[in-house]
Amino acid sequence: MRFLFAGAGALGARFGFMLHQNGEDVTWIDTWKEHVEKIRQDGLKVIIDDKDLGNFPIPISYPEELSGEFDVVFVATKSMQLKSMLESIKHVFKPDTKVICILNGLGHVDTLKEYVDPENILIGVTLWTSGLGGPGVLNAHGTGKTEVKQVEESDKSRSLEIVDVLNKSGLNMVYSDNVYQSIWHKVGLNCVFNSYCTIIDCNIGEYGSYEGHQRLTDMILNEVVAVGRAEGVDVKYDVISGNISRIFPPELAGLHYPSLTQDMKNGRLTEIDYLNGAVSKLGRKHNIPTPVCDLVTELIHIKEFLGGNK
Ligand code: NAD
Repeated sequence: MRFLFAGAGALGARFGFMLHQNGEDVTWIDTWKEHVEKIRQDGLKVIIDDKDLGNFPIPISYPEELSGEFDVVFVATKSMQLKSMLESIKHVFKPDTKVICILNGLGHVDTLKEYVDPENILIGVTLWTSGLGGPGVLNAHGTGKTEVKQVEESDKSRSLEIVDVLNKSGLNMVYSDNVYQSIWHKVGLNCVFNSYCTIIDCNIGEYGSYEGHQRLTDMILNEVVAVGRAEGVDVKYDVISGNISRIFPPELAGLHYPSLTQDMKNGRLTEIDYLNGAVSKLGRKHNIPTPVCDLVTELIHIKEFLGGNK
């Protein structure tokens, strides 16, 4: 199977590296010049769990250089880069190329459907985490698991084969009929931490140390749960709320700043429109008021604007 990772950032580098190490045929593309050039020159430097595993020569190019055809395309950009990335690589899709999307947030299936038949889309959610330590450096910790499901399922045999190949590389992936519930449960957690920690400028543990954290959490979760249920997904408040308070201790995620907070600090645009912003948009569709998600989305956007984020 030929795999393309469209985006060689934190997640794309980590998953692609695991497949590559297991002997799979993997290619990466990215638009970040320093990153691509550094990997071409020195290979990808891989640090996992603080252990330097060395530098690995891996095939990476710019989207405009990409040719050939791929059996599986892993989309691994940030949410707001998905559409322009798909536009730039649509020439490498075969009629049966499967596209796997485990980006955080909501709304990706609609974007993917503009380029890919729903039979070929695997939508999902991952609990793996990863990071970059600068251009050309993968710096990641821990392990995780991933759930995926084909958006339309008249024949899912190839998807099951792909999941099997990914598992042989240690990706710990399951084909799951509950994937939309899992997506919404992660969205709920991200809608709370990513927005509040960025606005308040605190880490997850500091947020949890405030005696009123549950009131703040509930203001967002009530909206997420109502909108998710209106979308036909069995979104469970107790599960999300439990997942949130479970990770306050410093030995879990307490010292961690959510990715949106890091993007804001690093002058980048954020995924807010695919988190709280997406809940607001779906709320309007179902006539469900979402004043808290509306407000935090605007607050994040004004911070991006005043910070000159790009
Ligand atoms: P990232 O910013 O590290 O990586 C994205 C990469 O895509 C960058 O290297 C960027 O240069 C590249 N890119 C941008 N536009 C492109 C284009 N047109 N063509 C090719 N490449 C392009 O982001 P990430 O942390 O890897 O996150 C990717 C997605 O996965 C996000 O939705 C994120 O929320 C989600 N996610 C990340 C983690 C994590 O721990 N990093 C965990 C779970 C989910």
